[in-house]
Amino acid sequence: MGLRDVLKIRKSDGAEENAVFVSTRGGGAVTAPEAVLRGLAPDGGLYADPGIGSRPFDVQGCLALGPLEQAERILTHLLPGFPEMGNLVHRAYAGRFSSEELTPLVPVGDQWVLELFHGPTAAFKDVALCMLPQLMTAAREITGMQEKTVILTATSGDTGKAALEGFHDVPGTGIIVFFPWQGVSKVQEMQMLTQEGQNVAVCAVKGNFDDCQSAVKAVFSSFPDGKAAPNVRLSSANSINIGRLAPQVVYYFLAYAALLRQGKIRFGEQVDYVVPTGNFGDILAGWYAKQLGLPVGRLVCASNANRVLTDFLETGLYDRRREFYKTSSPSMDILVSSNLERLLYYASGCDAENVRNNMLRLQSSGYYKISAGELRRIQEDFAAYCCSEEETAASIRRCFEETGYLPDTHTAVALHAARQYREKDESGRQLVVLSTASPFKFPAAVLAALGEKSEGDAFEQMEKLARISGLAVPQALAGLRQREILHRDVIEKSEIASYVKLKV
Ligand SMILES: *Cc1c(COP(=O)(O)O)cnc(C)c1O
Repeated sequence: MGLRDVLKIRKSDGAEENAVFVSTRGGGAVTAPEAVLRGLAPDGGLYADPGIGSRPFDVQGCLALGPLEQAERILTHLLPGFPEMGNLVHRAYAGRFSSEELTPLVPVGDQWVLELFHGPTAAFKDVALCMLPQLMTAAREITGMQEKTVILTATSGDTGKAALEGFHDVPGTGIIVFFPWQGVSKVQEMQMLTQEGQNVAVCAVKGNFDDCQSAVKAVFSSFPDGKAAPNVRLSSANSINIGRLAPQVVYYFLAYAALLRQGKIRFGEQVDYVVPTGNFGDILAGWYAKQLGLPVGRLVCASNANRVLTDFLETGLYDRRREFYKTSSPSMDILVSSNLERLLYYASGCDAENVRNNMLRLQSSGYYKISAGELRRIQEDFAAYCCSEEETAASIRRCFEETGYLPDTHTAVALHAARQYREKDESGRQLVVLSTASPFKFPAAVLAALGEKSEGDAFEQMEKLARISGLAVPQALAGLRQREILHRDVIEKSEIASYVKLKV
């Protein structure tokens, strides 16, 4: 029996369905709607499709379509078992982004910047988190689920607001967001604390993002069947959820299609992508695009001073036993990048036991090392560079002075990595730098990088930035100042589990 056959399960009603997702740590097969509802697998692993890349996908046909149709094709392929994907995509995106193209590709110097931040909360996470509630609502219907779904989310800033925006007042769901107290920007904090909705809870935690994420993971594992109460099932909106990762594959195609349309490449020519990386979801989506057959060259992993991924991709040793830096690009301040587990799974030839051992070692000892063969396979697809705080500021200033384009701190990290990559790379391929935030999200840091004083509050800083750059403050941010603070909870990290019990 082949792997595909093993993965086929027979439903009790006699209908055969493809259960394509297994846990990276070895747990049994589930369908895409089930994987989306669960988020994390019961054994603590992430859901992955071992057959990704083995089913044929018409890349060229897809690239010729409009953005929403491309999304429909890609998501239907990655998440089989959602019969009305076209409708779900339409509901998620139509009219909700300030750009018709969803993620516009902008020429900056001799490379390209893919702007991912034109969604309803001005965060790149909107791309995925507009879609996830649609997938979850459909999955509840498909599986006949009766219980309430409560989304637990740990956020380093942007995920929280984008998830709240996606899930507030969605019938049958609730959402609880934890963020590191004083560990997100003023604007991000305002965005979350002013969130309206009957089914939302927002809570600051005294700790860093990794503390929040570990505690949320521990809550998940403390309910192996996902049931936090008799009629409540927990799920996740973090990029560990396959329903969050899959929509991110789309913009790699959109960027490639834009280059084709503009005659910058011919079909089949490889394009390199530089990705500002934290939890490894964004860049892993690029690797998925490559598995589908998109001509992706190298994926360049850009890190800030928290260079755990740079070291790992250079040496194969993942070692979290190091100092944690709070940087000006806080969404990348991460020492444990959850989605890397999926890449390890594939790089080891879908060896779940190997993955489980590595993850257990990471938990107990703080490090693991992959084999030379695994590292070689990963290095064929990935390169990695990091960027200090001084270099981040210099990168913003240089980009603005040389090209007139104003990047935010996260994009600046990626632009710095792009420079380093280019110095070594002789392929001459087109280079797309993913931009994950508007500069108005981090006005103080951007002003300081430009050598300007950053007096006043975040809103005065935004206005000053608008004057200097000639850009308009994004609508999602401009109106925040007048909004009322609705959430005031601050807890210790040890209290996360009891907070969840209280709120579900
Ligand atoms: C989430 C985020 C990232 C990191 O993306 P990952 O998928 O976690 O690697 C980078 N920049 C910004 C602004 C983000 O919000």
